[in-house]
Amino acid sequence: MPSERRTRIVATVGPASRDPKMLSALVEAGVNVFRLNMSHGTHEQHLEVIGHIREIGTRLKRHVAILGDLCGPKIRVGLFPGGSVMFETGSDVVVTTRDVLGTATLIPSQYSSLHQDVRPDGRILLDDGLLELKVVRIEGTEVHCRVIHGGPLSDKKGMNLPGSSLSTPALTSKDREDAQFLLQNGVDLLALSFVRRPSDIDDLRKVIDAAGKSTPIIAKIEKPEALESLDGILEAANGVMVARGDLGVEVPLESVPIIQADIIERARFKACPVIVATQMLESMVTQPRPTRAEASDVSGAVFAGADAVMLSAETARGQYPLETVRTMDRICRKVETWQSLETGFRQPMPRQVGPEKMHSIPLTRAIARSTAQLSSDLRVRAVVVRSKGGTSAAMVSSTRPSAPILALTTDERVARRMCLLWGVIPRVISAEEFDRPKSAARHHAAALGLVEPGQFLLLLSGLGKQEPSLTVLPL
Ligand code: PEP
Repeated sequence: MPSERRTRIVATVGPASRDPKMLSALVEAGVNVFRLNMSHGTHEQHLEVIGHIREIGTRLKRHVAILGDLCGPKIRVGLFPGGSVMFETGSDVVVTTRDVLGTATLIPSQYSSLHQDVRPDGRILLDDGLLELKVVRIEGTEVHCRVIHGGPLSDKKGMNLPGSSLSTPALTSKDREDAQFLLQNGVDLLALSFVRRPSDIDDLRKVIDAAGKSTPIIAKIEKPEALESLDGILEAANGVMVARGDLGVEVPLESVPIIQADIIERARFKACPVIVATQMLESMVTQPRPTRAEASDVSGAVFAGADAVMLSAETARGQYPLETVRTMDRICRKVETWQSLETGFRQPMPRQVGPEKMHSIPLTRAIARSTAQLSSDLRVRAVVVRSKGGTSAAMVSSTRPSAPILALTTDERVARRMCLLWGVIPRVISAEEFDRPKSAARHHAAALGLVEPGQFLLLLSGLGKQEPSLTVLPL
């Protein structure tokens, strides 16, 4: 078996990649998780893609997860004649919540509370911040603005209101419908956009519970309010995404790298998998090779210890989806090889940790941390973790052991969820094997070529039941 890449690759599906042949090639090139973006496409198109991905997973005998990404309260402009209008810098425009076609002085917005949520002197950013408006006055549903930075604006482009608190709920009626659709069709993970507080996650959790599912939730961090409640969100969610596209519009651009580093560190300390997203290899939308800065961006996320790196437009509508995944795979492997030879993979540390905080680490977490240390001290060939629901695998993964993590579970759905976890190789085994962990660990690690006679494994079990057991297992 070729050595596994530890950092996971998430690829967004779109017109450039939804053909079954391309999806299959992308899996072979190393995609671990496909993202279905509910901001685009119809349920029929998404259903077809889900069918193709499942068929490819079965045919290639690979676990591939599907992440359904709910739009959340994303504000968009309406439609313009001919699909696009030019807005001149210095001109006056009205942003209206009326359902009308736009003009060179009128921008329709589908957000009905816009006039209540903005204030005079506030900013309205359009198309990922490329256009900027300043609010002059508000009259009824009409928001009068001055164009600070003009440019072309096309149909349905995004609108951000930095500094304004949105009164709209995190889970819109479209999100509820999309979530029902995605859950009914068995997607493995759900992401929620524009999360502001932990209760936003609880709202989605209720929808998942009502559907009789246990689908993990990824909180997309892209609002300043979310940064203020990050610890609560990390507790409520099962993973987070640093959604740098909208984040970089909502907060000053120069803050994004620091926020990214902080989220990665805090998420990892709580064993919450973290995805770094957006514009990672953006120039590959139109070019076969990335810029040096983009290569450094991907490697920076790997060095920082992200669980996964994500491709958006590059695979959704780019000209080189396959080359982009191959490039990302090579960059991740290069950094990981260097880390494993030179520095080892770094354990997450809480910020400003004091001795009193170190004492409060729960027993299971302490055992997981020691496992990572032992795996490099003893040069073991694999860490095998018995993980029914995936929590133990996430906990071991977050401590970044030097050996690959073989996670044994009895449930296909859990195995697919594990595709987002750094360094985890999921394997589905029978209930009988699950009850005989030592022989299952030896058998499956040897079958995968991870270990040979005379070498050692570490076997971890009982983390979920708070009865952790760690065994050094000779083969
Ligand atoms: C982002 O804003 O970075 C993001 C990942 O969200 P979306 O692609 O849905 O805009």
